[in-house]
Amino acid sequence: MRATLLLLLYLAILVAFAVWLTDRPGTVEIVWQGYVIEFEFGILVLGVGLLMAVSAVSYRLWRALVHAPAGFRKNRSVSRRERGYQALTGGMVAIAAGDAEAAKRAARKADTLLEDTALPLLLSAQAAQLSGNDTEAHRHFEAMTERPDPFTEFLGLRGLLTEAMRAEDWLGAHTLASRARALRPETPWLIRTCFELEVRLRKWVEAQTTLAQAVRTDVIPKTDAGYYGAAIRVERSREAEAAGDLAVAIELAREALKLQPSMIPAVAREAALFGRDGKARQGAKLVERAWATNPHSDLAAVYRGLGPEEEDPIALVKRMEKLHKLNPDHPESLLALAEVELEAQLWGAARSHLMRVEAGSEGRPATRRVYHLLARLEAAENDDSGAARDWLQRAASAPEDPAWVCDVCGTVSPMWTALCDNCGSFATLRWRTPSRAAHLPNPAAQALLPEMA
Ligand SMILES: [Zn+2]
Repeated sequence: MRATLLLLLYLAILVAFAVWLTDRPGTVEIVWQGYVIEFEFGILVLGVGLLMAVSAVSYRLWRALVHAPAGFRKNRSVSRRERGYQALTGGMVAIAAGDAEAAKRAARKADTLLEDTALPLLLSAQAAQLSGNDTEAHRHFEAMTERPDPFTEFLGLRGLLTEAMRAEDWLGAHTLASRARALRPETPWLIRTCFELEVRLRKWVEAQTTLAQAVRTDVIPKTDAGYYGAAIRVERSREAEAAGDLAVAIELAREALKLQPSMIPAVAREAALFGRDGKARQGAKLVERAWATNPHSDLAAVYRGLGPEEEDPIALVKRMEKLHKLNPDHPESLLALAEVELEAQLWGAARSHLMRVEAGSEGRPATRRVYHLLARLEAAENDDSGAARDWLQRAASAPEDPAWVCDVCGTVSPMWTALCDNCGSFATLRWRTPSRAAHLPNPAAQALLPEMA
């Protein structure tokens, strides 16, 4: 289309030029060796033009003749490549169709035709994987990682990484993933894999850096990142404390709290560390602030520990009353208070608080915990094992207490951890009612019975 337009344009210019020449008649006279040649000017111009055109065409023809063998060779190598890629395509189709033998044949053919690409290696590896020959697949992937071009190296690493993940060799997988990430740092699936491996391996500092990149590249949504970041810092804080670095532990817990102000494990951690650092008052303030909106048995446990050493049980009750007043009708408040009242042998107060929970304070149905405490009260106050047994029977049919439950495998953990102890999932522990059948006999309740008999 464009070529036609150009040709028309040339013709138009030519015609215009011819018209312009005929409008301006005149002659050119050439005198040479006594001859006189006289030209019409227009004819001369056209003649010169024609001569130039003929020379140009002749030159091209001559060039084409001289360079013919190289062009022929080029055509031949193009067709070699074409056949190579055809073999590759055939191999991919064979892989998709599940025909490992045909794929292997195609890979060998492609390999002899395509010298400068490692794609046949990838096809061979996939064919080996398809036929269940992991050793051979591994060998091909290894060979790919040794190729000088980064694309092939990356594909080889990806193959080896998939193998390592399947074999649950997390450390090996992380080494491979890091190598691949150095080649292609922005690959989303790789960022996610690195993050998952780093948290699994408790490489918290690296996980924190990867998380920041994951958020920048939209691999992990911002809404999840806050909780993930806080979970990582709580674990780092635990490790710092275990290593005896209290100041770092406190700072990390503070960072976690800043990311997730209402995260119970972060509040509990920071408050407990303040206590250990001789700042019990500050720790208590943290718990009290959270208690008003989000009372939790983990916070109550930390709060108990924030008293002076060898604290008198009555003094402990006094402190607990302060916490209770911040959220007076919540079952968690009543239970926390009743527990210390039981220990201080304030039977009447303990009973009245427990009975309020049992009646469903704030419309929250009583769970097993309150019945266990009532059984303890009967046994301790009146030595009444019959009444205790009755409460324990009620406990068996009551709804289970909420606990830290893994969203992935359903395992109940006695304390919050960033990684599930059972399945190793990250940030999946949630405070909720365990999903297993609520009417199963509670082993803890059964254990109580012989003790009291
Ligand atoms: Zn789990």
